[in-house]
This record gives sequence, C-alpha cells and structure tokens, in this order.
Amino acid sequence: MTGSDSHTRRMVVTGASSGIGAAAVHRFVAEGFEVHAVARRAERLAGLSAATGCATHVLDVTDTDGVVALAGELGPIDVLVNNAGLGRMDAPLATGSLSDITRTIETNVTALMVMTMAFLPPMIERRCGHIVNIGSMAGLYPLSSATYGASKAAVNRFSMNLRIELRGTGVRVTEICPGRVATEFYDVAISDPQRRAASKDSGVQEITAEELADAIHYAVQVPAHVNINRIELQPTEQTYGGMSFDTVIPEGEDIA
Ligand code: NDP
Repeated sequence: MTGSDSHTRRMVVTGASSGIGAAAVHRFVAEGFEVHAVARRAERLAGLSAATGCATHVLDVTDTDGVVALAGELGPIDVLVNNAGLGRMDAPLATGSLSDITRTIETNVTALMVMTMAFLPPMIERRCGHIVNIGSMAGLYPLSSATYGASKAAVNRFSMNLRIELRGTGVRVTEICPGRVATEFYDVAISDPQRRAASKDSGVQEITAEELADAIHYAVQVPAHVNINRIELQPTEQTYGGMSFDTVIPEGEDIA
C-alpha cells in the first residue's frame, strides 16, 4: 500500500488562514485530498475556500471542547497537519509578559497535543494515518527566544516519543523543522513596527510557504511503510537555527 490509496484521502490542516498552512491547503487540494482548513480568521478561510474548494472550520485550537467536537464531527481522517503556531518576540523572558508565555505554550504545545489526541483513535483503529507536526529549527538548536524555543523543543520530543508510542499501529509521525520561511509569522511575533520591519528583512532569499508545503507533501506521499521522521530545511544563507544571515561571500574573498 502506498500513501496514495484509491480512496479520497482526508486531511486536517490547522493554522490554514495564512503562510505555511494556507500553502499546504492549496497543495493538497490540488493533489486530490479532501482538505479541512482550521483557523480563527473566518474571512481568510472563506477566501481560501473560494480559491481551493477546501472545507473550513473557524476554530481556536486552544479551545479543547471545540477540538474534540471537530474530531467527532469529521470522524476518521488520513493526515493531520499540526501547523497552527506563533512566537512572541517583543522582549526576552526576563522582561516579557506572562500572557506571551501562556499563549505560546497553549497554542504551540498543548493545543497540538490535544488535537493529536482527538484525531488519533480512528487512525489507530484503522491501522493507518499520519500526524505531521510543524516544529522549528528553534526546537533543535539555540535561538534568541527562550519561550518559543522551549515550545518547539516540546514539539520535537513529543513527535519522537509519540512515534514510539504508536509503534505497531501503522500510524506515521513526521516533524518538519523549518528555518526562516516568508510568512506573516513576524507580524504576529513583534508589535513594534520598526523592529518588526527589521526582523522581516533578513536580506537573504527565504524559503517560501509553497516550498515548505512541498516538504510536507514529500513526507505524506512516500509509501505507507516509510516514515519520514524529521525534515530540517532552512535558507542556504541562514546559520543553524540562527537569527543572523550571511550573504554569499564574493568569489576571491577570504572565508575567515
Ligand atoms: P503565520 O503567522 O503566517 O501562520 C500562523 C497560522 O496559525 C495562522 O493561520 C493562524 O491563524 C494560526 N493560528 C495561530 N494561533 C491559532 C489558534 N489559537 N487557533 C487556530 N489557529 C491559530 O506563520 P507561519 O505560516 O510561518 O507559521 C506556521 C507554523 O510554522 C507555526 O507553527 C510556526 O511556529 C512554524 N514555523 C514558522 C517559521 C517561519 O519562519 N515562518 C519557522 C519555523 C517554524 P488565525 O490567526 O486565523 O487563527
């Protein structure tokens, strides 16, 4: 059996109203999937549905009852893409706000785990299914945001341990760990317009949301007996997990 069975495959994508999630919806609808797009901004989802034909669900993923209700309503799905997430990077931990900590952890960690828990049982019962978690380079390597890095490190270990818990069930778990992707991430992360503009201008060619969707697609379409554990990808000119970017050193100039 391959990842492309004859039945119409059903997928849920969280955080589908912009960036990586929206690109994934476009990509998988084009591949013939029945895609259920989840986010809070109804108008964005309406536009996405008009453009792609995806089903939409206006939902805050931190609303546990809403998540459980959605899983009950949809029944068995083939792929869950846990993509909804954010960073809050106005200040370091010492001078930051408690609400930034709770919002980040509740969205990036708790909601991702609850969403997974809600959709897993039918996957296990049917002996097939795929959980795709969008982690981050920040979860694997040091980066200048303690809270965001901690949340994504949790996604990393959750994904690895879940894979062990699910051994023998036929259910696959993949973590995708991007470096910088050109999305609205920094519009949410940084409140001050000047700092935001500076953060968004990395000066290098960033990964596009569509390229990220290609990576998700690769992990999903491999034969069902193959589990892509983790994909790390970042702009060529970005250092590991780094917030610093180096443009290509001109030919003839010394690297050191
Ligand atoms: P965007 O800000 O463009 O997209 C984030 C998405 O998450 C939006 O659709 C937003 O929808 C949704 N979201 C946020 N909070 C909630 C919530 N409580 N309930 C439902 N949906 C929510 O950023 P990206 O596309 O870049 O981010 C996608 C993922 O990729 C995140 O997990 C992020 O951490 C990760 N990532 C991004 C990187 C980058 O450089 N861009 C690098 C590494 C990882 P709405 O506001 O409508 O609810």
